[in-house]
Formats: sequence, C-alpha cells, structure tokens
Amino acid sequence: MINEKMRALGASPSKIRDLFEYGNRRKAEIGAENVFDFSIGNPSVPPPAKVEETIRELLAGTDAVALHGYTSAQGDRGVRQSICDYVNKTHGTSLTPDHFYMTCGAAASLTITLRALCEDGDEFLTFAPFFPEYRVFVESVGGSFGTVDCDTTDFQPDVADLERKLTAHTKGILINSPNNPTGAVITEEKLQAIADVLRKKSEEFGHSIVLIADEPYRELVYGDVEVPYPMNYYDDTIVCYSFSKSLSLPGERIGYIAVSDRMTDEKDVYFAVCGAGRSLGYVCAPSMMQRVVAACQGMTSDVSIYKTNRDLLSEALTEYGFRVVSPDGAFYLFMETPGGDAVDFSEKAKEFELLLVPSDSFGVTGYVRISYCVDTDMIRRSLPAFKKLAEKYGVS
Ligand code: PLP
Repeated sequence: MINEKMRALGASPSKIRDLFEYGNRRKAEIGAENVFDFSIGNPSVPPPAKVEETIRELLAGTDAVALHGYTSAQGDRGVRQSICDYVNKTHGTSLTPDHFYMTCGAAASLTITLRALCEDGDEFLTFAPFFPEYRVFVESVGGSFGTVDCDTTDFQPDVADLERKLTAHTKGILINSPNNPTGAVITEEKLQAIADVLRKKSEEFGHSIVLIADEPYRELVYGDVEVPYPMNYYDDTIVCYSFSKSLSLPGERIGYIAVSDRMTDEKDVYFAVCGAGRSLGYVCAPSMMQRVVAACQGMTSDVSIYKTNRDLLSEALTEYGFRVVSPDGAFYLFMETPGGDAVDFSEKAKEFELLLVPSDSFGVTGYVRISYCVDTDMIRRSLPAFKKLAEKYGVS
C-alpha cells in the first residue's frame, strides 16, 4: 500500500533532528536555560534589516495578485537578472539569467540537480564527513552514493583518494565548502587539483563528470579566507546555492541553481533542471522571497557574531584539552571525541546537558559536531559543563 523506502525514511528522522527533539523535551523538563543545545544548524543571527524593509515595501507597493502569483517556473526574469549580475560581478563569470533556476533552498537545488543528472546505474561521490541528507537525496533519485576521504588534520579533500574512487559509473561529485560539519573551506589549490582529476577521468571514461557545488555557507567565512568559485576551475559545474544561512532565511525556502555557461551541452542540462523541478512538483520558488533576495544581493546577516562564538568555543575547548579542527567557515566546530566512540561521548555529554551530534551519520567516526549558531551567552554558560566533560574523560 505504501512505498517502503519512504516509510523507513519518515520513520527514522535524522540523528540531528532526534537530538534536537530530545533537547526540546529536556528544556520542558528542566528549563531552556539549563540545556546547552548545539544540535542544529538554524541561524541564530537575524536577517539584515533590508529583508524586512523589502518585505514591507513589496506588501505596500506591489499589486498583491502579482506579488503572490506564480512566477515563471525557473524564477522571475528580473530576479534572475539581478542574481546573475551579482554573480558575474563577484566571480568574473559570463552567465546569463537563463543559467539560473530559482529553488526552495539548497535541499531543492540538490534534489533537482541530482534528478536532472541521474540515470540508472549512476554513482555520485562526496567527501566524508558530509551533510547526511546527501545520501538520502542521491538514493531518492535512484543513484548510488559513495564517499571519498578527507585529510583528518585539516579536513581538506584527499584528491588521490578521489582519483582512486572515480569509476566509469561516476556521474558527479558533490563538494560542500564551507563545510557542514567541519567548517573547512576547500583551498584554491585543492579545488584546482579536484578539477584536474575530473578532467583527466572524464577524458578517460569518455563522458563528463559533473562537479556539484553545494554552497549554502559561501558567505560565512572568518578573517580573510577566500572561497574560490568552482565554475572558474571546472567547466562542467553546477552550483547549488541557498539564502538559508547567508540571509538567515531557512524557513522561507529560497535559493537557486546556476549551470555553468561552459558546461558540456549546457542548454540540455538547463532543460533537464527545468524538467526535474517540474517532475518534482516545485512549480516555482516562493514568489515574494524571490523579490526579497534579489533586492538583498551582496548582503549577509551579521557574521561577526558567529566569529565571536567560534573563537570563544574553540579557545575554551582547546584549553580544556579537547582537539578541535579550527574552522574557517560555516558555523560548526568538529571536535575529536576522546576514546573514539562518538555515540558514547554524545550520550555522556547529555549527562552535562550538552547536546552534541556524533559524527557517525556524517560518515566518519570519532568526532562530534558542535553547531555554534547559538546565543553567545549560552556558549558562556555551557563552558563549565564542557570543562566537567573534559575532566570526566581525563583530557584536561
Ligand atoms: N547543504 C548543506 C551542507 C546544509 O548544511 C544544509 C542545511 O543545513 C542544506 C544543504 C540545506 O539547506 P536549505 O535549508 O537551504 O535547504
């Protein structure tokens, strides 16, 4: 009567959601101020003021029928023009609005892109650790999912391992920089090396391997770290972008897909994107939000708050004796778990009301992910609990 795969997916929520729900129950029991919830990646900084201003202006000054009506399936042309102008100006690309397809956030960008590319027997690879939904998205379109190692000192992609793992069945690889869960930003040198290997292997296998760049955290970087634009390194690139994190709009569901103008059969790839969006029933991305993000190009929420949180946490945890990977971007800290068993460590952390996500569902063992998109004050209050946890494990 039902699709068993879908039932299983719905009946087993992600480990992150599981912990988040546990946190909500615990907050009801002992008070929200006593639970240190580092489980979920929900931005804790409000959107820039321009977001609300634009919404007010649109509501006051636009014909309501047009504002709330359907747009073109690929997104309003004026909106795509604004985004296209901004991307070209920022990254030196030569894209046109017809390389852009507006979506309901990065999750939709990814599922549409994968559906547009995947045929029976196709494989998609990503670097581990990875965002757990990648597996769900790839398998849902009938693809097989595989992983490639990262260097565990800095979580940069292991390009030699990529070269080993690429096969004639590999349709695409998924990269995510800045990364969830490690915060690592792929360096220009590594991106160049990935592109070189993809070109070599595409030639060897006689078909192009697509680089899918999942970029919801592009603007969330600290210091003078640069995030190289993948299309400038490899022609067969599709960028899956979202405004969920950069403008703190995750509940509004807005993002886009950008297909490189230098991609093999670029027009057909774009048609396949439109077809995949249609077959998944997206119809169009939220109409008012398309206009809002078009007016906010180049703006971000106040990233300095995340930097304060990152510095506060990584300095304290290092002082207590934990080993953390110093993140250049996103809002996650990846911390090695003493003793190696991340699930056990996460359970022990709960005894101190610390909610930390074990790394197993990200495809590696021995770490926890700490989401620091939280109130800075909560981090300060949580530090004694982290200290006690360090003492329990004898690392301090
Ligand atoms: N990709 C990564 C790496 C993410 O961390 C997330 C959300 O946390 C998504 C995609 C989905 O983002 P969106 O809310 O824009 O669908």
